[in-house]
Amino acid sequence: MDSELQNKDRDLIWHPYTQMKDALPFIPMVRGEGSYLYDEKGEQYLDAVSSWWTNIHGHGHPYMAAAIYAQAQKLEQVIFAGFTHPSAILLAEMLLQRIPFHQKIFYSDNGSTAVEVAIKMALQLYWNKGQQRKKIVAFKDAYHGDTFGAMSVSARGVFTAPFQNLLFDVEFIPTPVPGDEQQALNELTALIERYGPDEIAGFIFEPLVLGSGGMLMYSAQILDDLIDVCKANNIITIADEVMTGFGRTGKFLATDYCRNKPDIICLSKGITGGFLPFAATTCTQEIYEAFLSNDKSKMFFHGHSYTANPLGCAAGIASLELFEKEGTLDKTMQIEKWHRAFADSINEDPSIKDVRVTGTIVAIELKTEGAGGYLNNIRDKAYAFFMDRKIILRPLGNIIYILPPFCTSSNDMQRIYSAIRDFLGRL
Ligand SMILES: *Cc1c(COP(=O)(O)O)cnc(C)c1O
Repeated sequence: MDSELQNKDRDLIWHPYTQMKDALPFIPMVRGEGSYLYDEKGEQYLDAVSSWWTNIHGHGHPYMAAAIYAQAQKLEQVIFAGFTHPSAILLAEMLLQRIPFHQKIFYSDNGSTAVEVAIKMALQLYWNKGQQRKKIVAFKDAYHGDTFGAMSVSARGVFTAPFQNLLFDVEFIPTPVPGDEQQALNELTALIERYGPDEIAGFIFEPLVLGSGGMLMYSAQILDDLIDVCKANNIITIADEVMTGFGRTGKFLATDYCRNKPDIICLSKGITGGFLPFAATTCTQEIYEAFLSNDKSKMFFHGHSYTANPLGCAAGIASLELFEKEGTLDKTMQIEKWHRAFADSINEDPSIKDVRVTGTIVAIELKTEGAGGYLNNIRDKAYAFFMDRKIILRPLGNIIYILPPFCTSSNDMQRIYSAIRDFLGRL
């Protein structure tokens, strides 16, 4: 029997990424603490996907909650054109300290908008300079968000099919997963030869891990090589760290593993510790200066109602303080060690095609009958299996992945691993 909340939900609400026709009743969650969520009946669920890759320090963290409450009592929102506020400035200071090769930060409110801002910066930069560069390069398995610009630079597939003709043209190169590195490099070089030196404006990429594309992982070395080629050709490099940022890959940013630094970085998801919708796009002084002019038409025409929302800024500050207070990056390295031991232990399983680890993310690619990809049937079976065990895992097609809050304990990690082992045993 569905609860009253579930009935009302069904009457009123359209949920994301869900075929509503045959959706199971949505589970009303009423409380969160640490790695756990609690439903209306008090049932406990282990959040092994950090509530869509957002949570960092755990649910309901009292330090985060107190910081947001304190900010709400002082100033909850202010128009960010003509005005500023102390929390926006402090967060900028703290973030740019961790991104010392960038000098400016542009705030927005979600991952897709952080990406839109980055793309528009790269394109308008050349327009302001009177150059005709307008092509963007991306990986063929990329995911950069659901707004039109972000969809345009994302993989052409089931997510984007209904809008295909309306997306702007993008040049896709192979994702440089092991074995395809040289091909990616060759195709990037070939594109530059084909278009000449003054056509490609930017290269956008998810550093080291392509999330929605199936937790595809590649090396910092090949990313450095690709960025080298871009730098030699004045192509703006845009690191979409929306998922990988804030310790997700074991360092503060995934590009911290690289010797080369991107010109623009997109941040969201973990930026508020997972408490509030918020985002930032950071860039070099050089990019910023290309918009300085006596001509008003060269300003950056972009902004959102909630740009630099004070509550989001306060959450961002508190989350960065927790990184120091709680040794958060050490926790991510511990999780990586557990993941690696687990990956080694299941490596030989006959139902597994590949198992890979980067930082706090472990991905297990299953061998499957029929088509792979996001809509693969095994996904529903796996999801239900783990939900029966009160573990929230949300496989991407035939890829089961764990992407936990960094506070997840050894015991809880082992519970997740052993549920996955059970699942593999039944295949
Ligand atoms: C989730 C995600 C986005 C989009 O962020 P939203 O907040 O969902 O709009 C963009 N890029 C990457 C790499 C992501 O994982």
